[in-house]
Amino acid sequence: MAKGFPIKDPRMVRVSTVPGVWEWMLECPECDGAGVTDVEVAVPDPIRGGYLSEEPGECPACQGRQYVEIDDNDV
Ligand SMILES: [Zn+2]
Repeated sequence: MAKGFPIKDPRMVRVSTVPGVWEWMLECPECDGAGVTDVEVAVPDPIRGGYLSEEPGECPACQGRQYVEIDDNDV
């Protein structure tokens, strides 16, 4: 019997941070590995005092790298 995958299965991506060295990284869950997500940006407005807007920008979780390093300190 094949075991089903867990619903929240973090996707792994192979990333080369150093030429010739490949590491398994966790695909960024914030932007689904896109590196870009909707971020809040402060829009200055001298009349209304400014406001927050959402527009596509560099993902704050992975800094646009599309992956996050696996923190296995607690494992
Ligand atoms: Zn991200």
